[in-house]
Amino acid sequence: MNKRILILALSAFVFMGGAAQTKVIAHRGFWNTPGSAQNSLASLSKADSINCYGSEFDLWLTKDNKIVVHHDPTVKNLKIEESTLKELRQYPLNNGEKIPTLQDYLKLGKRLHTQLICEIKPHHNDARTLECVDATLKQFRKYKLTGRVTYISFSLPAVKRLIAKAPQGTEVYYLNGELSPKEIKQIGAAGIDYSEGAMDKHPEWFGECHDLGLKVNVWTVNNPAKMKNYIDRGADFITTNDPVKCKELVAGGK
Ligand code: MG
Repeated sequence: MNKRILILALSAFVFMGGAAQTKVIAHRGFWNTPGSAQNSLASLSKADSINCYGSEFDLWLTKDNKIVVHHDPTVKNLKIEESTLKELRQYPLNNGEKIPTLQDYLKLGKRLHTQLICEIKPHHNDARTLECVDATLKQFRKYKLTGRVTYISFSLPAVKRLIAKAPQGTEVYYLNGELSPKEIKQIGAAGIDYSEGAMDKHPEWFGECHDLGLKVNVWTVNNPAKMKNYIDRGADFITTNDPVKCKELVAGGK
């Protein structure tokens, strides 16, 4: 093989190897399967058991300053922010589990491998959202899991606080969809974690992010044709309610 062909072959090898494979994140855990429920401990275990790159979950601070894992701001008729953990736990999740605390999640997460994709929910005011951020950072330090977490939030103050206070190298992504890649770079986030709608409106943001050294996560992608489209566009992460299908497509399936 002459030198020129060898260089070309090596470049092709590096190029193919350099194109990172899309990583799959189970949205609210892997809940779309028997015995599971959104944001339950089972959904975290099940995301890990199918080798998802990450398992996403949502955090709220209760009236008595406990951090609970739950998506909606309410549990039945109770507002989480105005209720105690004990009051909230009157109502089990759909799989019979009690509402987990962040502590429960981290104790379990410590024994697993999946990345903990931790969403701080915007509370009734910024001050309370930032209290949730600070309490969350503290828990991850306590359980020595600062190296296994990725933070996401719709709240820009929360994103900025996380960037300022999380250990260096922790990835923080913004969810709300209106900031351009340049603006995201300026605030020091790792990238964008935007809805399908936001990314379809700005297809150029895939390339712009990558040119700026930022990563792209798209949510919540449940349609296989759309999954394939974002994989082909080079999405670094896809957040989905169907992680099994998405993993199959990443692996080259149809
Ligand atoms: Mg979420």
